[in-house]
Amino acid sequence: MKVTIIGTGYVGLVTGVSLASLGHSVVCIGRNREKIHKINQGKAPFYEPGLDDLLKKVVKQKLLSASDNLSKAVEASQVTIVAVGTPTVNNSIDLTAIKEVSSQIGVALKQSKNYHVIVVKSTVTPKTTQNVVKPLLEKYTGKQIGKSFGLCMSPEFLREGNALDDALHPDRIIIGQFDTRSGFEFSKLYKEVKAPILFTNLATAEMIKYANNALFATLISYSNEIARICEAIKGVDVIDIWEGVHLDKRLSSQTSHYIYSGAGFGGSCLPKDTKALLAFSKSLNVDTELLKSVININSKQSRKVINLLKEAIGTLIGKHVTVLGLSFKPNSDDLRESASLSIIKILIESGAEVTGHDPFISKNSNREELKKFSIAIVSTIEEALKDADAVVLATAWGEYKKITPDVLKKNMKRPILIDGRRIFSKEQFIKEGIIYKGIGYSGE
Ligand code: NAD
Repeated sequence: MKVTIIGTGYVGLVTGVSLASLGHSVVCIGRNREKIHKINQGKAPFYEPGLDDLLKKVVKQKLLSASDNLSKAVEASQVTIVAVGTPTVNNSIDLTAIKEVSSQIGVALKQSKNYHVIVVKSTVTPKTTQNVVKPLLEKYTGKQIGKSFGLCMSPEFLREGNALDDALHPDRIIIGQFDTRSGFEFSKLYKEVKAPILFTNLATAEMIKYANNALFATLISYSNEIARICEAIKGVDVIDIWEGVHLDKRLSSQTSHYIYSGAGFGGSCLPKDTKALLAFSKSLNVDTELLKSVININSKQSRKVINLLKEAIGTLIGKHVTVLGLSFKPNSDDLRESASLSIIKILIESGAEVTGHDPFISKNSNREELKKFSIAIVSTIEEALKDADAVVLATAWGEYKKITPDVLKKNMKRPILIDGRRIFSKEQFIKEGIIYKGIGYSGE
């Protein structure tokens, strides 16, 4: 099928590449010429495991191209997927991009004679597709949805760092449909994908995405609340608690992944989606006490890491602190709402000198998010640790798990380790003379 995807970010490009790899003919619409050029050369503008290779392949096969000509691409395709950003502004969802592209799609389809399905894949609060997207499409096409056009809402569940595999092998495909024809036409895109398809109405599909993300955010904040209780019981380590809990057969290994204590959730989805759901619930006069607590607990986790550091080191003024990991999670270069950046912010405000390291973000990465902080970014772990008064592990990258007590002792001024993700064996580090502190453990 011929598909246009609007948005060349994580969701837009990964969806485009995976659909192209299934044999569909895909045009990705972006606004940034440099990014478009890069994609047309087979290079992804961000890091995602395996994406560059598959992108190169589908570009070479002429199954995927990028362009800034939205109307030409939409007119020539059968399906248009909207994957633009829906950020949180003033704690509420910002639909500016959704409105802009809905209007542009409407204009592009005004003269169209062929049946076309528009699909919202961006995360939007319930009723947005019905009450915001549909009227704009109808206004600018001058036609009614249901006759010449179809409308669907199909939330995306990919996880950055595993996005391609998630898109190619989804656990489920949710299709919120305006009518059965819309859903049926859109579902043809997934003929080759082995996954259950759940057809719902538009608002149900929108709500499934929020319920899903809020569930994972809840598990993480729940784990961090349990960590706080454990910290108050000498000799109890939350890691041992989770080891016992994870053996429960009612939990899957995938679910257990979220039941683990650390510096809290970040990224482009959980923080913004929980806040958007809270604001949306308020607009319905629904008091969501649990959701409020989930957000509140998470907002305090970076401070918890700093408190552990202060317990070990005292004042932070003039101290040289190394932060390992900048991205919000391993296998991603996404810095949005990264707990690491909140930790760095508090460190700098407290007078510390900060050196950062990340396997995928170098000082040449020129990342906007980092420009507001005065930190040194270095390219090796050893360089990062050199003469440090303390090290804070902020992102659980695999290569940090290989750090041994000897590496800390050899390079640091004083070997103080704050394990913000609980990836190290505390027994091994303590035995080797490291001052070790971790979320959910306050010593014997
Ligand atoms: P992103 O910021 O990486 O990409 C958004 C894209 O939209 C960018 O390419 C941007 O240029 C484009 N865009 C914004 N306004 C536009 C406009 N007016 N016209 C054309 N293009 C425009 O965002 P993302 O992470 O890909 O997320 C996109 C949506 O998918 C969001 O609603 C997000 O909540 C949702 N989502 C994201 C993930 C994830 O892991 N990143 C997972 C599931 C769902």
